[in-house]
Amino acid sequence: MGRQHANMGCSMSLVLNRRGFLAATASFAALHPFSANAAVNQAHLRVMETTDLHVHIWPYDYYADRERDTMGLARAASIVRKIRAEATNSVLYDNGDFLQGNPMGDYMAYERGMKEGDMHPIITALNTLEFDASTLGNHEFNYGLDFLMKSLAGAKFPVISANVAKELGADPTRDITLVPPYVVTDKEITDGIGEVHQIRIGLIGFVPPQIMNWDRRHLEGNVHARDIVESAKAYVPVMKEQGADIIIALSHSGISAARHTEFMGNAAVPLAAIEGIDVVLSGHHHNVFPSATYEGMEAVDVASGTIHGKPAVMAGFWGSHLGLVDLMLETSGGEWRVVDHSSEAHPISKRNEDRSITALVKSDQVVLDSVADMHHATLAYVRRAVGKTSAPLHSYFALVADDPSVQIVSKAQRWYLTEMLKGTEYEGLPLLSAAAPFKAGGRGGPEYYTDVPVGDVAIKNVADLYLYPNTVRAVKVTGRQVKDWLERSAGIFNQVTPGESDQLLLNPNFPSYNFDVIDGVQYKIDLSQPSRFGGRGALTNPDAERIVDLTFNGKPLDLEAEFVIATNNYRASGGGNFPGADGSTIVFEAPDTNRDVIVRYIVNQGTIDPAADANWSFKDLPGTSVLFDTGPKSVDVISDVKGVTIESAGDGDDGFVRYRISL
Ligand code: MN
Ligand code: MG
Repeated sequence: MGRQHANMGCSMSLVLNRRGFLAATASFAALHPFSANAAVNQAHLRVMETTDLHVHIWPYDYYADRERDTMGLARAASIVRKIRAEATNSVLYDNGDFLQGNPMGDYMAYERGMKEGDMHPIITALNTLEFDASTLGNHEFNYGLDFLMKSLAGAKFPVISANVAKELGADPTRDITLVPPYVVTDKEITDGIGEVHQIRIGLIGFVPPQIMNWDRRHLEGNVHARDIVESAKAYVPVMKEQGADIIIALSHSGISAARHTEFMGNAAVPLAAIEGIDVVLSGHHHNVFPSATYEGMEAVDVASGTIHGKPAVMAGFWGSHLGLVDLMLETSGGEWRVVDHSSEAHPISKRNEDRSITALVKSDQVVLDSVADMHHATLAYVRRAVGKTSAPLHSYFALVADDPSVQIVSKAQRWYLTEMLKGTEYEGLPLLSAAAPFKAGGRGGPEYYTDVPVGDVAIKNVADLYLYPNTVRAVKVTGRQVKDWLERSAGIFNQVTPGESDQLLLNPNFPSYNFDVIDGVQYKIDLSQPSRFGGRGALTNPDAERIVDLTFNGKPLDLEAEFVIATNNYRASGGGNFPGADGSTIVFEAPDTNRDVIVRYIVNQGTIDPAADANWSFKDLPGTSVLFDTGPKSVDVISDVKGVTIESAGDGDDGFVRYRISL
């Protein structure tokens, strides 16, 4: 232990605990007071959590094809080793969503496959780090039950889930569950004077029952999902009967409303209220608890890290944090109970004021080595073609004409939501799709464009097509809101004076990610009008209408009709202040990222045809021209741009090139 600390360059100190025993510790993590204070018949147990790893083992962003200090179980593993080295008693659990969510997961599912006896790299990594148990997250079901069960077969730890059943019984305890609903395990635990006792730890796992919608094609007819709270209430007394001293819920479920509603997906709060549950390990939200994110919620105490007075933790995502719940346990009459607790999520990196990232820990080499072969196989996979595109995917002209790099996102979203909305009340509504060019020069500079040529498309190109880790949303809006959504987008353009030449087209303060193109409708943009909405989205010119000739299925769009728009979580919950997108109109919250959906779309289609359908253009303003700056590489692809009269106009500022568009 001393050598290990010396290697880490940390100073040693000696702590005298209450019983007079000397304990060695190091300044990077001062001895927890529970260890210092544990008396006879008292024991300090450290409960560690990872959650939402999504196959992130190496600190590597496979889409960007570069290392990242913000992710990776190998980084969190270094915190695990430190805690284990100093803790008298510790356990390590994973809270689900380990099997899917990065190109390594896709490589295993789409390319390599799992045969009987194969090891999935995330399971290898969890085995290597000697996890004590895990539960299933919703994403475990993304590749189907056969793939899941073959992956789990390699686990040297129990994987539990109480609310997924192959056959439903009269009550949850009579279900035939897919994996064991819970485990009650004996553990040796050392008290404050070094005496060893036995404790029975009960673990029970839960997943959002929404898996039945999200992965219907894999699950319908094969499994059933129960309500989380209903399952917990049924099983906890059984676990108590089997002698569980303490019960820890591995809850792949977020922290949300306090009031229980049937089949709620984020049920951590009502779950914590259940008598007999001592600790709630939370997840699914990809957030950190305790943190200010959850301040002010009913029954949630951020300062003490509790929900309904029970210690809880949520360890971010992708290995960003190690969750830690410290329990002071006390035994009397052979039974143990929690007498004190604290909780904290330990980050693996920090963001500096200049937005740069500093790693706080190094990778654990043993964990890296355990999956090195699969890491390299994944690198080859992301760099290799998985599909083809029959049109170039570049964004040099995405702000002046309908564009394939936006169209492909739009098409993939529509393809995905068509399936997801089947069997819902929204199935019959017209499904539109909104997407914006994320990389379109501007403050990103003259090289900051999407640029994927005709031919092979590799997985790493998808990051170029979809920059942000957004998740898919569907919103239900009126025709009027569709029009106003487009009016808000059209705020990216300056107002032009008809008949004048060489007016600057773009408002430099309007980010391109707020220039949503909506596919499924046809429209023109009248630049002679002022923008209907101001920079922040306020209705500043109520009489102005830039969106003209707006049609749906060849007829003027009915402003009173209802539509569903496919978009992302940022827009749907109010990002950019778009009319009809304030969070209240969301009708479907997808568990999948837009990026994953694009990858699936490309893999599914083989060859994609992202050719733009020219569903929007500028309204003719004879005798009027505007100037538009874009990246210098645009000169090679100028012939691709359709539906706009454009000619070179020399150089723009700061390395951009300039074009003249005759309206
Ligand atoms: Mn997740
Ligand atoms: Mg289009």
